[in-house]
Amino acid sequence: MDYLQKAYCMNQSMRIYAAITTDMVRHAQEIFNMWPSSIDAFGRLLTISSIMSATYKSGETLNIFVKGDGPIGKMTVEAKDCKLRGYVSNPGVFLQNNDGSINIRKAVGYGEIEIIKDLHMRDVFSSSSEIIEGDIANDFTYYFAKSEQIPSSVGLGVSFDTNTNKVISAGGFLIQVMPGCKIEYIEKLENKLRSLKPTTEMIKEGYTPIDIINEITDGDYELLETKEIKYECNCSKDKFKKGLKSIGKIELEKILNEDKKAEITCNFCNKKYIFTEDDLKEIIFEL
Ligand SMILES: [Zn+2]
Repeated sequence: MDYLQKAYCMNQSMRIYAAITTDMVRHAQEIFNMWPSSIDAFGRLLTISSIMSATYKSGETLNIFVKGDGPIGKMTVEAKDCKLRGYVSNPGVFLQNNDGSINIRKAVGYGEIEIIKDLHMRDVFSSSSEIIEGDIANDFTYYFAKSEQIPSSVGLGVSFDTNTNKVISAGGFLIQVMPGCKIEYIEKLENKLRSLKPTTEMIKEGYTPIDIINEITDGDYELLETKEIKYECNCSKDKFKKGLKSIGKIELEKILNEDKKAEITCNFCNKKYIFTEDDLKEIIFEL
């Protein structure tokens, strides 16, 4: 089971969130049959999205888009209460660096991060920032500083079985500096981050969320709540039926006459829904 641990550190002047998201990222790789660069980038995005979701109140929905000009194309994530779903334009990207490691920077490219928050108020809030590196972690560190004015640090990682290219583990962390934090604490954190073990190594070694927090804080932390993280799509045949209805009677009759059925695949979970001739006749009748 994937989960996230929240904690305080530096005398309660910083908040830290650490998550292991292995099950979620493996699940995404499986359902979309994703190649290494695509799932490395998307796995990182799913992880930071789950953490962001935990920073918001229950019931608030985040729509997160990473729109880079690299071959992966657009990445989309929807997150609510640490339940996530999403997809990428191109799941089949595998670029390698000279040393054979997986390249995600080129695969993501440059462009924009956009976040739309539905906080159940009258309006939805939208904010954005540039993709500065394409490694997702530094891009979101930049996003938090620029768009939310919260000095932060993000670490993300996905580790692979180099023979099968399957995801072994995934996870990450977010540190947020709260207003009024003493400068000496910020310097202490910066020093620590400079020598910190790479996130990908930590998760490869099987660190739990608490292990990650322990590593970053040298054991000086106060644990707060934990939260379960899950990949979950709430699609149903009924929802797609409503979608079909919205295209109108003329278009539906055309589908009925030409194809005798309609096949719809959910973008978020790759599940196929088939509407038979009888289903289509019923929908047209209901109109
Ligand atoms: Zn679905």
